[in-house]
Amino acid sequence: MYPEPNTDSPARLSTRQTGSPGMIYTSVLSTFRNLGKSGLRVSCLGLGEYHTLTLSIIAEQLMTLAYENGINLFDTAEVYAAGKPQHSLNSFSVLFHRRSSLVITTKIYWGLRASLERLQLEYVDVVFANRPDPNTPMEGDPFNTSKSRTFIIEETVRAMTHVINQGMAMYWGTSRWSPMEIMEAYSVARQFNLIPPICEQAEYHMFQREKVEVQLPELFHKIGVGAMTWSPLACGIISGKYDSGVPPYSRASLKGYQWLKDKILSEEGRRQQAKLKELQAIAERLGCTLPQLAIAWCLRNEGVSSVLLGASSTDQLMENIGAIQVLPKLSSSIIHEVDSILGNKPYSKKDYRS
Ligand code: NAP
Repeated sequence: MYPEPNTDSPARLSTRQTGSPGMIYTSVLSTFRNLGKSGLRVSCLGLGEYHTLTLSIIAEQLMTLAYENGINLFDTAEVYAAGKPQHSLNSFSVLFHRRSSLVITTKIYWGLRASLERLQLEYVDVVFANRPDPNTPMEGDPFNTSKSRTFIIEETVRAMTHVINQGMAMYWGTSRWSPMEIMEAYSVARQFNLIPPICEQAEYHMFQREKVEVQLPELFHKIGVGAMTWSPLACGIISGKYDSGVPPYSRASLKGYQWLKDKILSEEGRRQQAKLKELQAIAERLGCTLPQLAIAWCLRNEGVSSVLLGASSTDQLMENIGAIQVLPKLSSSIIHEVDSILGNKPYSKKDYRS
């Protein structure tokens, strides 16, 4: 549906990021995937917006760098700006000149129209409805917190159909919905001739696998809903930076992230760090970094349409984009080795794409 970014800005990742001196890297242009069974083509790596992007200048640097390296997918949400207004994406020169070649997504909590105004966009490509929790206000009904789940799902499908028909979004997706809820939304859409969701935003990384590896593939088969995954580094845990505590300026050290700190310092957190040490050895053998191995590992799953990256600096972003170069190195024996270390491979009836 959308043109893929042109090739006048080939990616050149520095040798530091992959440890293979002298190599000139190709960009991610060859790695576009369809979002579910829709016709929307997205780069297999997307850039997310998180707390660090409250600084507009960093946001623009990251976005420009991402775009220059072949990324066309940019995920935004009101809450990621830590309660502050979303950036006016239209003021970013990269976006201003290339809007039609970008895929901008947003998650709504209080209202898409207000969100579009803050972003200064006429439309988003995909709007995500956050989890249909009875306590979570949805678009169009911000104050009612006592409705039954089924009613909220039906209302959400109607609201999403409305925003698409109004031209405020091209497609809609779900975020943190259970497979049953997504199926219900699909049935409601079919029953009332409304528009069904095209993908689910789900957490996916080496320590969280079941939903994306087992449940979503079944949905993809049945109703074409794809997976856009987030937190490939488990909020930075899978980077090696927490192996001896919580360093200053890391996400876990920030106000509001005590839950992450507690998780890292817990018994389970310590077990994870031990596994990460073993995985680090594999990364070294492959000539890459641990974050690159972790992101490539997410990408190896063909059921994943796109992996949303988070980065607090341009160095991190460049390193993470380098995961694309690691993907071809993930042979079945390497994957097996990783699985043995992780010890959490979920049982799957079959590889749904085979
Ligand atoms: P993540 O990759 O798990 O974590 C990103 C964080 O890890 C960075 O902010 C940085 O934190 C650290 N990091 C990243 N690259 C690194 C590297 N190479 N070396 C060392 N540390 C590194 O991703 P995420 O930010 O949690 O999630 C990605 C995106 O998914 C979000 O931006 C958002 O768009 C989306 N998301 C969606 C939902 C949802 O409910 N649908 C929820 C969460 C996220 P520090 O440097 O600050 O430590």
